Amino acid sequence: MSDAPPRPRLKPCPICGKLAIEQFRPFCSKRCADIDLHRWLSGVYALPVVEDKERPDDAGPIDADEGGDRGRPRRDQ
Ligand SMILES: [Zn+2]
Repeated sequence: MSDAPPRPRLKPCPICGKLAIEQFRPFCSKRCADIDLHRWLSGVYALPVVEDKERPDDAGPIDADEGGDRGRPRRDQ
């Protein structure tokens, strides 16, 4: 590799792949930084979350009787 990029210390934005800006690094903009933050908050990344008794995220509404069993894929056989 003979020709180095002008800013070798900055890596591409992990969100959109553009060149990161020092102000928002490792992201290219505040928007991508926000996107990454939202990913963290929404639990896309694997975080060591303290699990309680039940996880209502994929089990669906447990106590609610509206769509209690309608929401689940039901197989009779
Ligand atoms: Zn970006």
